This record gives sequence, C-alpha cells and structure tokens, in this order.
Amino acid sequence: MTTTRTTQAWQAADAAHYLHPFTDFKSLAAKGSRVIVKADNIYLWDSDGKKILDAMSGLWCVNVGYGQRELIDAATRQLETLPFYNSFFQTATPPAIELAELLAELTPPQFQHVFFSGSGSEGNDTVVRMVRRYWDLLGRPERQVIISRNNAYHGSTMAGASLGGMSGMHAQGGLPIPGIAHIEQPFWFELGRGESRDEFGLTAARWLEAKIQEIGADKVAAFIGEPVQGAGGVIVPPDTYWPEIQRICDRHGILLVSDEVICGFGRTGRWFGCERFGVRPDLMTFAKGVTSGYVPLGGVMVGQRIADVLIGQGGEFNHGYTYSGHPVACAVALANLKLIRREGLVERVRDDIGPYLAERYAELARHPLVGEAQTCGLMGALQLVKDKAAGTTFDPALEVGMVCRAHCFASGLIMRAVGDRMIVAPPLVMTRAQIDEMVELIAKCLDLTAAELTARGWR
Ligand SMILES: *Cc1c(COP(=O)(O)O)cnc(C)c1O
Repeated sequence: MTTTRTTQAWQAADAAHYLHPFTDFKSLAAKGSRVIVKADNIYLWDSDGKKILDAMSGLWCVNVGYGQRELIDAATRQLETLPFYNSFFQTATPPAIELAELLAELTPPQFQHVFFSGSGSEGNDTVVRMVRRYWDLLGRPERQVIISRNNAYHGSTMAGASLGGMSGMHAQGGLPIPGIAHIEQPFWFELGRGESRDEFGLTAARWLEAKIQEIGADKVAAFIGEPVQGAGGVIVPPDTYWPEIQRICDRHGILLVSDEVICGFGRTGRWFGCERFGVRPDLMTFAKGVTSGYVPLGGVMVGQRIADVLIGQGGEFNHGYTYSGHPVACAVALANLKLIRREGLVERVRDDIGPYLAERYAELARHPLVGEAQTCGLMGALQLVKDKAAGTTFDPALEVGMVCRAHCFASGLIMRAVGDRMIVAPPLVMTRAQIDEMVELIAKCLDLTAAELTARGWR
C-alpha cells in the first residue's frame, strides 16, 4: 500500500488490468483513474497529494468518518484471535452472536433475528429467497411476485438488479428475472407537479394498489422500497407516501421490505429510515453503514411475522454465504455501532447537524441553476434546471450534472451526479464548520457550472 508509484504509473497499471464497477472501460482507460491513497475524518487524498472533501462518505457508507481507531483496533484484535470461521456447520463466533444481539436491540421491536450476508446486493438476494420461502411454508407458493419501483437501487446481483428499477441495468443480462414488477417512483419534481407534495404522496402510493389489483393480490408476495431513494438521486418522498404504502400492504396481506442499505444507521436522523417515515417493515436489508464501510458486511433483519414461520415450521432454509457472519466484519460492525450510539450520532443528525444542513441547503435553493433543494437527515439533493421559474430541465445530452461534477472534482469536493441531480451524503460526524466548508464549495461549483453553461451558449 505505497504511494511509491507516480500517478501516471498507477493509471497505466489500472487501465491495463482493473475493470471498475459501473464504468465505461474504454473511456476510463483513455482518461485515467483518480487514485485515492489515504483518508482521515471527512477528507481524502489522491496520488498527487490533493486533499478532497468526501461529501459522499465513500459510497454512502463511511458514516463515522475515516480513521476511527476503535474500528481499526476491533479488526486487528479479531484478525489475531479468529480471522475466519463459518456459521454453516452448526457453529457460530462471538462477534456474530454479539452483533445479532445488538442489532435486535437497535432495530424496531418486531426485529429479533438477523441473517448475515456480505453486501447489500446479497442481502436483497436473501430477501427474495426468504419471502418466497415464507409463502411456501404457509402453503401459498403462488404468492411469488415482488413489487418494486422504477429508478430504485437494490444492488447489482441478478436479484438485486432485478428488484432495482434502473433501465440501463435491466438492458444488460436479460433482467428482470421472473416474478418482479415495478411501479413509478414517488418523485414529485418529475411526476407530481400538478399536485401538492402531500396529495402526490397518496397518488404515488396508490400506484401500488393499482399494480396489486392488476396482478391479483393472491399472487403478490412483497413490496420493497428504499425509504429515501439513494442512488436514484436522493428522492425524498412526501410524508404521506409511506404510511399509505403501509396501509395498502396491510390491507392485502403483503410483506413490506425496507431496503435500509443507505438509510440505516443514522443517515436520516433515526436509526432506520422506516422510523423516520413511520412504517413497520417485515424485513429490512442493511449493509454499508453497518460497518461504516471499513470492511464488507450486509444482512437482513427478519421480523417476527416471518421468523415465527421460518423457525416455527422447521425445515432447512437452503441458502447462505461463506461470509455470512464473518467474524472480522461483525467485530468491526460492533465497534462501529457502539461508537454511533455512544457519541449520539443519530440524535446529532436529527437535532443538530441535519437541520443545519437543511438550513444551508435552503440558501442553495436560491441559486439560479437550482430548481429543487431537498435534504433528509444527512442526505441532500440539488436538481439543476434550465429555467428556474418554469422548472424546466436541461437536454440530458448536455450532461449538465457531469459538467458540475467535474467542477466539484477540480475544486476538491466529491459530489455525485445522478443525471442533473447533484447529491451528497456526508459522514455523520461532520461539524457545522465542515458543513459550511462543503456548502461554500458547492456554491462555488454551481457558479462555475452556470458560467460554463453561459459560455457555451446552453442557456
Ligand atoms: C448500495 C445499495 C445496495 C447494494 O449494496 P452492495 O453492498 O453494493 O451490494 C442495495 N440497496 C441499496 C439501497 C443501496 O444503496
């Protein structure tokens, strides 16, 4: 792990051998990767020594920031004591048992059991298997269909990408797999502007009811959604949306799955996003923030309704991963969750730093390029628009989001572009001064983007 090579040498070796996720291999090889060599707190350094504010917490995961000694020590101790053992052979390890116990304590009361995976995608594969197993055990094998939403992100395995609603992913590899259906997302800016946000929330939720009626309730197994769609562009639903989804699922006896891979562990200012939006899911997928990304871990919290059947009826569940309950990952998760709890990070997001981000985003909303500014806890989105008054968007071919993202990179800020929606999800340890630093960088990059657009005659 050295910085002994020059940036150019790293880039050459990278281009020669390393295929990156979600990447146009050819164009990246021509351009060269940015090589990140170290990190501390909320900052990264690249191989040229440039310091960058990481407003994306890595990939929505480094909730406690980089360089936390307790997590590093927990990993080291566990590596020395027992680097690996499985949970297949009627065995278990202390970190996996303790983490299961702590998760039962931190999650809503209906959750007393957990199934571990290595990632969020694998967690959602487990969800598909478990939901169908549940209905099989109840003698209702025809309840197969899982309803999800367009523009949702549930991972990149065959089941994860199928549950997700990304058309570009479905187009590659013959997806979705059978038994997955999609409805429209609760994206007010794009789909709801004839209605108030609250009215639109009910309209969007009722698309689920219409889909259930179309398929037949007796064939529907579950509905899955992210409390706030993350990779889809930090789409915060109206407050009326989730309670209505809950009502519809209850009415038709359909399981409710909350994909908490991003929203879990404090991101929304509650321990879990479902608590922020007032829903009571039967299953919750988690990953990312459970370890603050220091090592990979994911899983599914299993609600009592399902646990009663899976455990009560007996019979083997033919499913699991080599790294289900990996002791090092579980030890790091334990240290991470204890730190979040002890430092009161969730309450801090709810009462202090989240409201402060919202306040600063309300200022960004006044920028001429910004058509909508939203935050939820420590997530934020800025919708870039061509005409602020009319709310019209840019021609997607102009890739205005990418123009803005390039200015961010050049200015030492990592912000993500989802189309023309600029999003952040900074570490939960951000101070007010660091929020100011981030918002000032964002404002500067919006100005640079506007100037470039003007110079090119785009507006
Ligand atoms: C990242 C993500 C996943 C997939 O997790 P991986 O660890 O990348 O497999 C699933 N769901 C949501 C909501 C995510 O953001």
